[in-house]
Amino acid sequence: MESGILSGLDCFDFESPALGDEALILTCRRVWEQKQPVRYVSHDQDGGYQFLCDGNEHTTQGDAVSVHARHIFEQNPDQLRDFTYLRKGCFAKHLQGETWNLGHLTPEED
Ligand SMILES: [Zn+2]
Repeated sequence: MESGILSGLDCFDFESPALGDEALILTCRRVWEQKQPVRYVSHDQDGGYQFLCDGNEHTTQGDAVSVHARHIFEQNPDQLRDFTYLRKGCFAKHLQGETWNLGHLTPEED
């Protein structure tokens, strides 16, 4: 698999995709309704996925939207598909271009 996000390999398990097209993921209204680019992806410890914009206001319940993963893939560059291999407990934060900063979630960030 060729991609700009391959640094941080310990955050990926390319043997087994963790997210199917019909799985429900959480996104925010700016991504879903205003078509803002996804700038943050996390695979939470509870198994849930989040695809969020770069805004900081993701704490209110009313901002969250639950949609099928395929809608996010259709709306955003193919690059996002690589995150179907993101391990549980990891996140990816967009830096610039095709560069993403990968890391492990801590309870405080979850
Ligand atoms: Zn957002």
